[in-house]
Amino acid sequence: MSEKTLFTKIIEGEIPADKVYEDDEFCAFRDINPAAPCHVLIVPKKVIPKISDADASDAELLGRLLLAANKVAAQLGLAEEGYRFVINCGENAGQEVMHLHLHILGGRRLSWPPG
Ligand code: 5GP
Repeated sequence: MSEKTLFTKIIEGEIPADKVYEDDEFCAFRDINPAAPCHVLIVPKKVIPKISDADASDAELLGRLLLAANKVAAQLGLAEEGYRFVINCGENAGQEVMHLHLHILGGRRLSWPPG
């Protein structure tokens, strides 16, 4: 059995986090180092290290991830003014935690393109 990821430890309550949503498949909690007034990570409980590791068997999970992220964004009051989803993949994108997660960012005007 491989070492639990940081996010699995958060999902299982071994490491505290400010959880805002949980269902059978996903858990969402506030980022410890927010890049926007509202910055939440939504994480599939299934460990896929990087989005590039996903395969056809994950297609429905990934669809449900986007829909769950929309639900969380609405719950957080972001729906009207808008929000951004980000998935970092690998070194050039600065991915730090090797457990697939989607960033939900909002609460201010976000610059584009990203740096
Ligand atoms: P990545 O760069 O891998 O896409 O994003 C990882 C995110 O996880 C970062 O935004 C970082 O601030 C956040 N993070 C890292 N460690 C913790 C932690 O222990 N708790 C929480 N809530 N967020 C974390």
